[in-house]
Amino acid sequence: MLGKLGKSLAKTMKKLAGMTIVDEEVVKEVIKDIQRALIQADVNIKLVFKLSKSIEERALNEEPPKGVTPKEHIIRIVYEEMVKLVGETPKPLKIDKKPYKILFIGLQGSGKTTTIGKLSRHLQKKGLNTAIVCTDTWRPAAFDQLKQLTQEINIPVYGEPENKNPLEIANKGLEKFKDYDVIIFDTAGRHKEEKHLLEEMEQLSTAIKPDETILVIDGTIGQQAKEQARAFSQSTPVGSIIVTKLDGSAKGGGALSAVAETGAPIKFIGTGEKLEDFEVFDPERFISRLLGMGDIRSLLEKAEEIAEEQEVSEEAVDAILTGRFTLREMKSQFEMMGKMGPLQQVINMIPGLDKLPKNAPDATEEKIKKYLTIMDSMTEYELDHPEAIKHSRIKRIARGSGTRNEDVKELLKYYKVTKKAMKGLGRRNRGGPMGQLMRQFLR
Ligand code: GDP
Repeated sequence: MLGKLGKSLAKTMKKLAGMTIVDEEVVKEVIKDIQRALIQADVNIKLVFKLSKSIEERALNEEPPKGVTPKEHIIRIVYEEMVKLVGETPKPLKIDKKPYKILFIGLQGSGKTTTIGKLSRHLQKKGLNTAIVCTDTWRPAAFDQLKQLTQEINIPVYGEPENKNPLEIANKGLEKFKDYDVIIFDTAGRHKEEKHLLEEMEQLSTAIKPDETILVIDGTIGQQAKEQARAFSQSTPVGSIIVTKLDGSAKGGGALSAVAETGAPIKFIGTGEKLEDFEVFDPERFISRLLGMGDIRSLLEKAEEIAEEQEVSEEAVDAILTGRFTLREMKSQFEMMGKMGPLQQVINMIPGLDKLPKNAPDATEEKIKKYLTIMDSMTEYELDHPEAIKHSRIKRIARGSGTRNEDVKELLKYYKVTKKAMKGLGRRNRGGPMGQLMRQFLR
């Protein structure tokens, strides 16, 4: 995330962690490293100096709490001050009305359309019936893009590419989707003049009366984000901001800090082009990951959720980590995926282990559901002994689960490839820190 910025900050923290003596000189050196990284990421120079001063003052004057080494104390201070730089923990998006109307605004190219797809997916996963209305009359392709993005996830999109009146489209969409939980309105991101664009936003806002207005900002513009946030919020009351494209450019750091400075809450961030590359923005979680401290907190939270529902047995995790992997473990893994997000995403959160082997197959949610249905029709023996599933068993399982023989065969093939991939993963991590971590968290 954030490309070079993340790398250099993580390097600094690692260097700090490796030092034996931590004195004033070390503190100053660490601060210099951080300054350099942040300035390169286009963080406003005043903010950088403010941050350096706080770190220096605290590091040199505060006594470490009992049981905390001076080094740990400084790591903590850097972490805390960096968290302050990107803002306070925003309130989550609360859908407390039906239909809950969300107005999306932002300049063309900011990633608005993609982000609408991502948010609709996010809400759908929470069980909310979501629909989209495209009022962009300037870029007729926007409607097609939205349809394409959401086709796979079955989210309806309303639009009239021929109609030049965005207010009319908005009203029709409102009527059409009035029974939905959430309606998201896409708007134009370009006009001949910016003034007209802002006017249109204002009119749409008056007509739709949104429960939330979200501004999308391209993270790669760095600290210019501040001006953009100001310009939009002057014409339309902006409730929250989504900063996109934080996957590549270091400048995202500048954008995040600039937006945080305006006081507007950043609720989500975009971290890639795919629908899944989207997350709730949490400054603490974000900074701990940026500093290479691993996203331990988010993993913890997810694991807690799972523990509550008691869906994953510790045995299954153990089995995966030690290389035993039968259909039973795969079934358990699928159930776990439903709760933690795709495996790749889970793995990304574990420090030092950020890539699944390349040949690990991709399982779409739809497929996972089908596979789970198939596995429900298997006997205990079959789950433990996948190799015994041959012709007649395949037929019986297909019949029992209402699927075709080919589906069962596909599942078995998926199992084989995954097993191979899991073997590599297990070997690397058996008894290692990742194994311990997973076990601890999934208990
Ligand atoms: P719009 O004009 O604001 O509706 O922007 P689009 O949604 O069409 O996005 C513009 C480009 O940015 C597209 O190529 C997207 O794939 C890309 N994009 C959007 N969000 C992200 C992101 O979080 N990361 C990356 N790398 N690309 C993104």
